[in-house]
Order: sequence, then structure tokens, then C-alpha cells
Amino acid sequence: MDRLILLATSNAGKLRDFAGAAAPLNIEVANLPNFSSLPQVVEDGATFEANARKKAESYSLAAPGEEVVLADDSGLEVDALNGAPGVYSARYATRHSQNNASQNTDDAANNARVLRELKNILYEKRTARFVCVLAAAREGKTLATFRGTAEGLILDAPRGTNGFGYDPLFYFPAIRKTFAELDAQEKSRYSHRGAAFRAFLEWYRATTSQQI
Ligand code: IMP
Repeated sequence: MDRLILLATSNAGKLRDFAGAAAPLNIEVANLPNFSSLPQVVEDGATFEANARKKAESYSLAAPGEEVVLADDSGLEVDALNGAPGVYSARYATRHSQNNASQNTDDAANNARVLRELKNILYEKRTARFVCVLAAAREGKTLATFRGTAEGLILDAPRGTNGFGYDPLFYFPAIRKTFAELDAQEKSRYSHRGAAFRAFLEWYRATTSQQI
């Protein structure tokens, strides 16, 4: 590998996705050293961008001297649910009165809530998109942000065992598969995270002398 990009995430699924996007380009991605011992950033922003910036800025302070630290905030927007779960994607199964930005709920419970809420919605009205906003920061300051989206449909039952989060419900019509039926490299070709990562790399190439 030619180059190492540092990520700030505790989500093993995201790390796998980034590694899948980076591998064909001969780039290695790794978590920030000591990430698990850093104080967790509370994701209480109103937008994906606000949360991504907050995470990247905070975690980049813990890695002085590094070129850039990347953090992503991402989620699922379902049109029939007026864009929900959106920034609440990681904790959608939490009862509203107990909504706590530092307390995520498990994927199966989150998926069950989406399925319940879409129960009587026709297939063609189950349009949705994944959104990923990636923030690149250095020493506490955001340098740039990158947005990637993937458009699909929410099935009425899970399909596939790869991936994480809402992947088994997210059907991508162009390849007639859910994201959970793809391996990490295939997913990165179509996914919101892959698109945001490629936009980051273009910027990184243009703004640094890195030959990547
Ligand atoms: P974050 O850590 O606040 O960005 O939470 C992201 C949440 O959105 C995850 O826990 C998943 O529920 C959902 N999500 C984001 N990206 C994906 C993806 O690529 N596949 C499936 N679910 C995703």
C-alpha cells in the first residue's frame, strides 16, 4: 500500500466500507490510533454535515501532526417517512421520549421500526437514499466536506447477510441486489460512502502533492 488515510469511527461496518473503496486505489485506511480510548463525540447536530464536522474536528485534535483525519456521518432517508430516520438512523428504535444522542440502538431493532412504519406503503412509493457526509479535518479545523448519495428502494423483508445497518433492506435497482448482497468492494462502487470517499480523494490529490 502506498498511503494511509486515518479514519475516526467506532463502526466496523463503515471501516470495512472505506477499506473496500480504498483497496482498488492502493490506499490503506485505518482507524485513528487509540480511537477507542478517546472521549466519544455526542452526535447531536441537526444535519449529517454538522455531525461529520464535529467528529472530524474533535478527533483530529487527538492526532496532532497527522495530515488529515476523516469522519463520516451518514444515514438513510425514506421519502414516505419525510426523510426519517435521517440523522437519527443509528438510534431510530429509541423511544422518542428517551432519544439520546449518545445511545445507539441495534441494527435489527432499527430495521424493524422502518419496516413497521412502511407496512402499508406500496413498493413504488418506498424510495429512499443513503447519504454520507465526510469531513476532513486537521488540528481541530474542517478543511473540506464531501457528500455522497445512493438511491434505492426499501424492501418489505431483509435480504443478504453482508454489510451493516439498513443494508439488508436497501435494494439497489441497477444491479437488482440489496447492499447486504454485495462484498465491500462491490458496495463501494455504488454506495454513498464510496462516492463521498472518491470525492475526498480527488480533493486530496488536488490540494496536496500526494500521488494517489
Ligand atoms: P452515524 O454513525 O451517526 O453516521 O450512523 C450511521 C447509521 O446510519 C448507521 O448506524 C446505520 O444505521 C445507517 N447507515 C449509514 N450508512 C449505512 C450503510 O452504508 N449501510 C447501512 N446502514 C447505514
